[in-house]
Amino acid sequence: MKIGVLALQGDFDAHRNRLEELGAEVVLVKKPQQLDEIEGLVIPGGESGTFLKLLGETGFEKLKQFARTKPTFGTCAGAILLASEVENPKQAGLGALDIRIRRNAYGRQLDSSILEGRFVEGKLGESPIEMVFIRAPKIERIGPGVEVLATEGEDPVAVRQGRAMAATFHPELSDDSRVHRAFLDLVSNGHNK
Ligand code: GLN
Repeated sequence: MKIGVLALQGDFDAHRNRLEELGAEVVLVKKPQQLDEIEGLVIPGGESGTFLKLLGETGFEKLKQFARTKPTFGTCAGAILLASEVENPKQAGLGALDIRIRRNAYGRQLDSSILEGRFVEGKLGESPIEMVFIRAPKIERIGPGVEVLATEGEDPVAVRQGRAMAATFHPELSDDSRVHRAFLDLVSNGHNK
């Protein structure tokens, strides 16, 4: 299975390692045309505003087409990019997930934390699951077609709509491959199992 990891900036290497451990062939995507070669894409954490700048209009449009039709998994800044509505500040989103998301929503004290979250019953696996949050965004609104996969406290922190999946935490930084495995399942059969 050929999986791309968007490699414009941010922590793409940890995703590459995890996906390779799980048996995927990984392509580091730096040019829009590379999207034609892959079956699924991971958009890593980083700085979503910088991603938008580096993508430019052409890259953004091409990525939008991809994310709306092919399996795409965004973590943290990647989750922000996939959203339909972005706050703090407002910025463009690819619209693959019908969610409103607020950047840097947890304030300075909580810049970075490791918490115990839960998978929603019947999705992805047994709880708890370690979640690493780094200047994390918060999902503030969820559209009717969006399924919550995992929560931390009251907050939805992993969601899916069709073939688009997002986590506001960084599963690539924990020693637990279940979230990436769920994405690879989504690529191979359209479901998380
Ligand atoms: N704070 C970043 C943003 O708003 C996301 C942080 C991350 O990806 N770790 O884009």
